[in-house]
Amino acid sequence: MIRAIVGANWGDEGKGKLTDVLAEQADLVVRFQGGANAGHTIINQYGKFALHLLPSGIFHERVLNLIGPGVALDPEAFLNELDGVLSRGVAHPRLGISERAQVLMDFHILLDTLEEERLGKRRFGSTKSGIAPFYSDKYAKVGIQVCQLLDKDLLHERLTGSLVKKNVLLEHLYHHEKLDADALTEKYYALGQRLKPWVVDTSLLLDKALRAGQDILLEGQLGALRDPDHGIYPYVTSSSPLAGYAAVGAGLPPWAITEVIAVTKAYSSSVGAGVFPSQIEGEAAEELRKRGGDAGEYGAKTGRPRDVGWFDVVATRHGCLVQGATQLAMTNLDVLSYLDEIPVCVAYELDGDTISHFPATPQLKKVRPVYKIFPGWKTDIRGQTDYRKLPDRCRSYVEAIEQMVGTPITLLSTGPRREEICHRAV
Ligand code: GDP
Repeated sequence: MIRAIVGANWGDEGKGKLTDVLAEQADLVVRFQGGANAGHTIINQYGKFALHLLPSGIFHERVLNLIGPGVALDPEAFLNELDGVLSRGVAHPRLGISERAQVLMDFHILLDTLEEERLGKRRFGSTKSGIAPFYSDKYAKVGIQVCQLLDKDLLHERLTGSLVKKNVLLEHLYHHEKLDADALTEKYYALGQRLKPWVVDTSLLLDKALRAGQDILLEGQLGALRDPDHGIYPYVTSSSPLAGYAAVGAGLPPWAITEVIAVTKAYSSSVGAGVFPSQIEGEAAEELRKRGGDAGEYGAKTGRPRDVGWFDVVATRHGCLVQGATQLAMTNLDVLSYLDEIPVCVAYELDGDTISHFPATPQLKKVRPVYKIFPGWKTDIRGQTDYRKLPDRCRSYVEAIEQMVGTPITLLSTGPRREEICHRAV
């Protein structure tokens, strides 16, 4: 079975936790896009981790964890993260890195940082991990593949070519000192030698696993609304977080993905710039932010406070649509237990009309949320693993959302820890 685990919203939905849970049954876990610009929070017997590049299957000894060709691989971030995990008593995970994955370099981070500074108030809220400059280089065909790190002359030639335009930008737009291809070649060749033991043709491995009927999880990063084509452009990321791209970014035939598990929170949260119709402010927001996630709604990568709001049916239905979701997993249900009443955004009002679709950004900026109020259940449900034992009002909330979104909710997370999960047959 091949399943994609992807975000239905703005990201931070709890994909890491679910991947860690589902990896128990899996043979392979593959990261297929993005880089170290987000964090997947996992809490298990080893403690709490925020994984940025390592696939969330690393805590299971039999799982082979792959970095697919669609990933932006920052070698230093990868090696540091691996060292960090090993230093906490986790057994050395089984790893593979695609020889075709491209390398995110220091200068991508530098350019990302300088550009956000230049934009000032018009910035995109980038995590400054170099993602936009990285993917720009990839598609401008001046990127560097992992296999090219292993050939010093080729690496030098590629870097020299790539730096011509960058040095003009650095000098004349950003007033920054120029970069030197020789020094970069030495640094990245050495890093390539450290990565070498894991560098493989991941497509061949995946083809073999597919033929052998193995269980493969494709782990997405961020969420549908950050997709460059189907999201809230330009407040998007630079690679596609959609299950449709998972086939490409991992290296599998599209027909092989049999289940798409879209992940959503029982409320909404978003970090970084963008449009967020059901966002709330003031004391209500502060309370939800404080109670959300495992330690409040603060970015796993940056520590930035996340914007929070009520569940948005319109946005989630759009997220499920573009993901091609076959199932929905709802996380953070326990967080809502303190509320007397729980508003849910069921439609938008746009220029006096009520709409139920998710419009493109210029119109989305003008919509106002239409709320339906649900009664709260006011009972602590943390750690509940039996769906039937959840309070009636809690199940009504879940089932009303399921009906409005139109995708079966098969998993409910009732706490951040691995074991705090309800499987629901529908
Ligand atoms: P990801 O990037 O999609 O993996 O999500 P993040 O890790 O960035 O954010 C999800 C947050 O929700 C983290 O703080 C998780 O520990 C937390 N979390 C996940 N599931 C639950 C849950 O069911 N209940 C609570 N309270 N926290 C959860």
